[in-house]
Amino acid sequence: MKQVKKENLPTKMCSVCNRPFTWRKKWEKNWQDVKYCSDKCRGNNKGGETQGLAFVQRVL
Ligand SMILES: [Zn+2]
Repeated sequence: MKQVKKENLPTKMCSVCNRPFTWRKKWEKNWQDVKYCSDKCRGNNKGGETQGLAFVQRVL
């Protein structure tokens, strides 16, 4: 049986898909700035968080 100590790692909510994601080694230097669970979600949110959405609404 493998036991992973996930509870020791910090988690955040993704701004795009609203799912929790867990700290990863690659984020150790900028964890406080991480807002997306993956590059895919980051790509879905071009132009910055709610500003991007407001821009889209204005264009439509
Ligand atoms: Zn996400």
